[in-house]
Amino acid sequence: MNKKVLVTGGTGYIGSHTVVQLLAANYSVVILDNLCNSSREVLNRIELLSGKKVDFVEGDIRNRDVLQTTFQLHGIDSVIHFAGLKAVGESQTQPLMYYDNNVNGSVILLEEMAKANIKTIVFSSSATVYGDPGYSQYKEDTPVAPINVYGRTKLMVEDIIKDLKNSDASWRAALLRYFNPVGAHASGQMGENPSGIPNNLMPFVAQVAVGKREKLSVYGNDYNTPDGTGKRDYIHVEDLAAGHLAALKVLENQSELLTLNLGTGKPNSVLEMIHAFEKASGKKINYEIVARRSGDLAEYYADPTLAEKVLGWQAQLGIDRMCEDTWRWQMNNPNGY
Ligand code: NAD
Ligand code: UDP
Repeated sequence: MNKKVLVTGGTGYIGSHTVVQLLAANYSVVILDNLCNSSREVLNRIELLSGKKVDFVEGDIRNRDVLQTTFQLHGIDSVIHFAGLKAVGESQTQPLMYYDNNVNGSVILLEEMAKANIKTIVFSSSATVYGDPGYSQYKEDTPVAPINVYGRTKLMVEDIIKDLKNSDASWRAALLRYFNPVGAHASGQMGENPSGIPNNLMPFVAQVAVGKREKLSVYGNDYNTPDGTGKRDYIHVEDLAAGHLAALKVLENQSELLTLNLGTGKPNSVLEMIHAFEKASGKKINYEIVARRSGDLAEYYADPTLAEKVLGWQAQLGIDRMCEDTWRWQMNNPNGY
């Protein structure tokens, strides 16, 4: 029998890429998503790319009835938990919405998993849990001290899962701290689909290249970095998705709680990303240097050594592929899904 995975947030950006890889690896998949930040069209794209139909439940992780029915109907073995809100700025102005969705939602999910005796979870955490430790390469034992509400919701859920594991050793859990996910499926059929004006660099650059936005604002060129612009650890979404499959496999064979950075370990500056995108797209990216964005750090990136050792996984794709795949997605789908 194929193992059956519930993917919360599975029509979202990272979730959808992970679902396609799970199906290719012969997992059965059920997606639970309330579509608050994604589109039903993703299901067609998943089917197109995988040649398989995926079970979809439109519902909220905070709805116990939905969870109970889903668990009863589908004999779920494990959960990959992507569902959550992710906009740092919005989390500062709408903290209760973030604590409710991300923290309360996760507690309800975990409670219903426990009742249904499903005790394996892979959780989407984030490098934002580290805050500002005063240096730029983060290991998993770098002190955690998030500086915004979003990061605090991620750390709270990490702690809740750790406490749960301490109380009941039969839980198996991986807390995956992503750095900066970018890129798209190589087919150009699946990618990031931000609603409104993108907050993140890569989707903004792509929309400038395709002519949807006039120019990019580069937030500061007076940082202590070689070209003065901020440096981040961009990781291709396909590498990130592969990290989830690797984590699930490891949890099938051992019960140690995993806390792992998923990044490349190789940071790039904003200007380097712009130039890579120009090369990939053949388009000029208009930009202007503006003031720093509040809360931004000069540079941070993963030490991915532990994930490489524990998961036998390593990010493979560099910034050229990240930009080529994003461009293909953007050109094929100028208005998203
Ligand atoms: P996304 O918004 O594309 O996907 C999240 C999905 O969850 C969406 O489809 C949304 O509709 C769904 N969702 C949200 N709240 C829900 C709820 N209460 N019930 C059911 N469904 C709900 O985001 P993404 O970029 O794919 O991120 C996935 C996860 O990874 C999130 O938890 C995010 O915080 C985390 N993460 C993302 C990044 C990033 O930069 N993209 C970085 C680090 C961590
Ligand atoms: N950035 C920028 N202009 C934008 C968006 C982002 O210059 O419109 C910069 C930002 O200051 C940071 C990098 O690009 O140095 C990555 O930002 P993003 O919001 O994508 O991710 P973050 O690292 O903030 O989570």
